[in-house]
Amino acid sequence: MSLLIKNGEIITADSRYHADIYCEGETITKIDRGLTPPAGTEVIDATGKFVFPGFIDPHVHIYLPFMGTLAKDTYVTGSQAALVGGTTTLIEMCCPARKDDALASFDLWHSQAAGKSACDFTFHMGVTKFDATTEQQLREIVRRGISSFKIFLAYKGAFGIDDTELYKTLKLAKELGVVVTAHCENETLVSERCAELLAAGKTDPGQHHESRPPLVEAEGVHHLMTFAELTGAATYIVHLSCKEALDQAIAARQRGVRVGVETLIQYLTLDKTYAEKPNFEGAKYVMSPPLRDARNQSVLWNGLRDGLINTIATDHAPFDFEKQKPMGKDDFTKIPNGIPSLEERINLLYTYGVARGRIDLHTFVNTASTAVAKQFDLFPRKGAIQPGADADLVVFDPSYRGKISVKTQHMAVDYSAFEGWDLEGRASVVTVRGQVAARDGKFTGTLGRGQFLQRKPSHF
Ligand SMILES: [Zn+2]
Repeated sequence: MSLLIKNGEIITADSRYHADIYCEGETITKIDRGLTPPAGTEVIDATGKFVFPGFIDPHVHIYLPFMGTLAKDTYVTGSQAALVGGTTTLIEMCCPARKDDALASFDLWHSQAAGKSACDFTFHMGVTKFDATTEQQLREIVRRGISSFKIFLAYKGAFGIDDTELYKTLKLAKELGVVVTAHCENETLVSERCAELLAAGKTDPGQHHESRPPLVEAEGVHHLMTFAELTGAATYIVHLSCKEALDQAIAARQRGVRVGVETLIQYLTLDKTYAEKPNFEGAKYVMSPPLRDARNQSVLWNGLRDGLINTIATDHAPFDFEKQKPMGKDDFTKIPNGIPSLEERINLLYTYGVARGRIDLHTFVNTASTAVAKQFDLFPRKGAIQPGADADLVVFDPSYRGKISVKTQHMAVDYSAFEGWDLEGRASVVTVRGQVAARDGKFTGTLGRGQFLQRKPSHF
């Protein structure tokens, strides 16, 4: 099976040129002008369109038991939504509860994806406790092809670890060359503030922000950076939302701490007034860290442009507005956290980033694909357009005009946080390892074809 993408404008993290891309089987084999394919080759005309490497979402939740309920997507719906939106690889958080066994949880998460996903996938292994058994199992999980851990400084009692566990996890990561991704918020401050707000009768979704203001996140980052500096481990801050937290990460970098920074498309496009919408509608916009004051958006866009922020994710965690969000109707601390956006990350980033002049095309490709692949040991198999790379390609139509709506989305959730928003451009053809998997907003791929991507640690 072969595929030729003709006459497109190829855009990578650092180059821009017109050429044809020829793929044999699952791999890009030739890039040149005026290629003539052998008979039987599927030809896609990309005239007037961009060709990007397949996009990678470095932080999603598909299988997620959380706050007593289960996130709505499965790999059947989630991978279709991802592909329609130009995302060809998912990195999911494997999140065992503290009482759960690490290896059994890894197997459970893997079994949720294998045989179902239409796109490729791998996991950050959640370290939600650290003892002798867990350590042994983490070593085994790394041998099986995982090169990143995930820890929570928040959610004490559910996922959160204490400082002894944090120190030991970072020491093990340093020894194994694994990067430690971290949710940074000070749990004590969060729980004290939640209790104070509830006692004062402040129960609506808008209070979620007040329970965890920017300083709470900045303290979490500072805390992690101190431990990273002392252990020498490579770290990565997930879903960074505000200037105060970014300042702590930059200060640590200046001291030599190895730290990658991820922000989310939601923080770039939404602000805390959304979570303050009346009649409980704000619950659609509750996630942690919370949506921030709009002043942070330019800080985040500028951070992407200047390379201070490395990657863009979604922290995709879909919970229905009708049936699940109301668990927190009278108590904002019980609202299941998450703003679904797996499907729209790339279209929003293009429309509100590139088309509005906030970032250039190379920053767009780098932060949503190439830098992710490099950070998480997938490059150059993923995140690159070059001979030998997987033929994961996005033919993108910048002349498309449309609107986001729950009515047309593939995510299995009953609302869109971006209902009615304009889009200026979208993926017109998406390929996964040489096979067309989405066309003009419709899924055309093969469920179960997605592969588990083996990774080797490199962060020694
Ligand atoms: Zn998450």
